[in-house]
Amino acid sequence: MPQVTDHGAGVRSVAVPIPDNPLGHTLVYVVDTDRGPVLIDTGWDDPASWDALTGGLAACGTAVGEVHGVVITHHHPDHHGLSARVREASGAWVAMHAADISVVRRTRETEPGRWLAYMADKLTAAGAPEEHVAPLRAARRPRLPGLSPALPDREIVPGELLDLAGRRLRAIWTPGHTPGHVCLHLEEDHPARLPGHGRLFSGDHLLPRITPHIGLYEDPDDDTVPDPLGDYLDSLERVGGLGPAEVLPAHLHPFTDAPSRVRELLDHHEERLTGLLTLLGTPRTVWQVAERMEWNRPWADIPYGSRNIAVSEAEAHLRRLVKLGRAEAVTGSGPVTYVAV
Ligand SMILES: [Zn+2]
Ligand SMILES: [Zn+2]
Repeated sequence: MPQVTDHGAGVRSVAVPIPDNPLGHTLVYVVDTDRGPVLIDTGWDDPASWDALTGGLAACGTAVGEVHGVVITHHHPDHHGLSARVREASGAWVAMHAADISVVRRTRETEPGRWLAYMADKLTAAGAPEEHVAPLRAARRPRLPGLSPALPDREIVPGELLDLAGRRLRAIWTPGHTPGHVCLHLEEDHPARLPGHGRLFSGDHLLPRITPHIGLYEDPDDDTVPDPLGDYLDSLERVGGLGPAEVLPAHLHPFTDAPSRVRELLDHHEERLTGLLTLLGTPRTVWQVAERMEWNRPWADIPYGSRNIAVSEAEAHLRRLVKLGRAEAVTGSGPVTYVAV
């Protein structure tokens, strides 16, 4: 049975499973417009997920062939995975923020071996031990998800209303989790008249219970030094200020009182930064910092792939401290170490 929830006033969600993932589902929102249903995200590219999406659309009284457009919050495969199939089945347009379209284009064009070499070099520079890096250098044909994601055919322009007949849906650019993440603000009265301003489709930016991963915007061709955590904290303040009556996130469940959730997340990152400063009383590499930061389990129990994600998250926090002038790289150190100032 498809899991469909009616959120009122022409908005429903379909729970589309993510195989082998503790998050369980992506909530794909189905927004009725005068030209047919528009989806917010599509879900993971997997046969069971496709069945859940198409079955869910049928339970909503429509069909995948009727979909008019697809609005993608960000490029991750649990959000954008099925976009190609939906477009093929319906002729729908697919819209995404330009910064994430660039990521998609790069993913399609970059040969997998180049990614592995790039990741291996990055981890070495972060001070990862050779036994951690060696498997990346040895791998030939990586099986990574979403290596050929659909190239969107429309750009989501921050601050503008999307072209949805009969609805007011405004794009709010919320970089941090990815460089082109957007939230979508439905500027219409809440169907149950909850206090606040409309409803916010928050993607992975603002979730109940869990904090989204904030790592680096990995790009082998970009040698600028972005500050994703700084972007994320700014974006959080921005959506908190919208004061939506209800948040409709891409995982877990809808919730109210966005400003207090924003506050919790800001506090969480502030605590991590403070903890990090304590660790940097002694100069440490990114890897040594990651080993000592608090995760959802002891470092020794963190599986290989998740360690890479943790290193990226540690580096995003270090970068924020450097930008704030609270830490600096020790000159002449290699692999580079950081110290509190
Ligand atoms: Zn994501
Ligand atoms: Zn997600």
